Amino acid sequence: MAFEGLSEKLQNVFAGLKGKGSLTEADIDTAMREVKLALLEADVNFKVVKEFVASVKEKAMGAEVMSSLTPSQQVIKIVNSELTELMGGVNSKLTYSPSGFTVLMMVGLQGTGKTTTSGKLAAWLKQNGKKPMLCACDIYRPAAIDQLEVVGQSVNTPVFTMRDCKDPVKIAKAARKEAEIKGYDVLIVDTAGRLQIDEELMDELADIKKEIKPHEILLVVDALTGQDAVNAAVGFNEKLGIDGIIMTKMDGDSRGGAALSAKKVTGKPVKFIGMGEKMDALEPFHPERMASRILGMGDILSLIETAEAAYDEEQAKKLEKKLKKNQFTLEDFLEQMGQIKKMGGLGKLMGMMPGMGNAGIKDEDIEKGEKEFRQMEAIICSMTKEERNDPKILNASRRKRIAAGSGQPVSKINNLVKRYEEARKMMKQFSKPGAKLPRMFRGM
Ligand code: GDP
Repeated sequence: MAFEGLSEKLQNVFAGLKGKGSLTEADIDTAMREVKLALLEADVNFKVVKEFVASVKEKAMGAEVMSSLTPSQQVIKIVNSELTELMGGVNSKLTYSPSGFTVLMMVGLQGTGKTTTSGKLAAWLKQNGKKPMLCACDIYRPAAIDQLEVVGQSVNTPVFTMRDCKDPVKIAKAARKEAEIKGYDVLIVDTAGRLQIDEELMDELADIKKEIKPHEILLVVDALTGQDAVNAAVGFNEKLGIDGIIMTKMDGDSRGGAALSAKKVTGKPVKFIGMGEKMDALEPFHPERMASRILGMGDILSLIETAEAAYDEEQAKKLEKKLKKNQFTLEDFLEQMGQIKKMGGLGKLMGMMPGMGNAGIKDEDIEKGEKEFRQMEAIICSMTKEERNDPKILNASRRKRIAAGSGQPVSKINNLVKRYEEARKMMKQFSKPGAKLPRMFRGM
């Protein structure tokens, strides 16, 4: 997961400050030296690190003593806001054309994930009420056109192609016309990539830009390439002018240096991050949430958004009624497990919880959790409907049968029933008159 190492190291620095009644300049110096090392190890650009540390130190020294915060909390607060600022401050949204028809031009080097991201972006736009069309402008690799068609199909989005045409400018122009005529409101133009920035590529992209006048040029870079990604961004921005960056493969990059340096070095914001190969693994980039995540403060906002995206109003109402009447059964439990899966699984959710940030949670914990999850699912699936709705009838022979059916020892079945009873007891408080479930939990 992104920022794993950095997160762990920064949290160690702050743990070292904890319990101190006041911080001397020497304390802050020591802490800042460690912060500097942590950032450098995360592959953050050297100049960016220097400025960052100097700014945090200055603010920490000058910070007014707030009675509500301990000195270490104050330093965390400063680092949090500086990290947020470093990554661009606010979430930089896509700009849509006021005319109602928006053209997005995707550019980037080969292999960074441009084609995959074009598809992901189409899926994301659809989820946000848009009607996108894709356009394949890579005339050099026929396989690139095939790939975009496959991607387009998987996200149910039409792909405009002109296989016999060797002029990307013509293709883009025709796509634009077709998209407008057919009533699409966003055209995503996937352009050709190269292994390196070269004049020919830049000229071609500049020609496409001139012809189709994109509302946004989005540069796709690969987080795994670290500072090379940042250098590519500088190159593309100088030669072509870009409006935003999409940083892919953040799921595989444990350092995160590129995401931390890109805005500061290029002046252009990271707008989205790619978190996996699947078509739904694209997230808008929120600097403030990412900073909190790095500092182990959790990412409650993303968690709520994820919950709300999977939120099924009807089902939630039904569940709330049941909770209030204290009629929550194992059948409902099974349904809720399905919800969690829909939200990306335990791992994704746990990473967003406060205190369980990247540093606090290990891959093996997630695996263990997901394994237990699957076991519970197998156990409940091995029960009859009657048993799921009324676990009280689960006598010894029924438990033995379920154990055999699910391939689990009887102790696991006992444990599950016990946990269910405990959860029911806890939920009883919501059945009191007037008790209201927080919205998020209603969805879960
Ligand atoms: P292009 O040459 O820039 O069009 O790159 P592709 O779209 O073909 O992607 C190259 C490889 O990167 C493919 O195997 C993708 O599945 C993979 N990829 C793209 N985005 C991500 C991401 O966010 N995470 C991971 N893990 N893989 C990605």
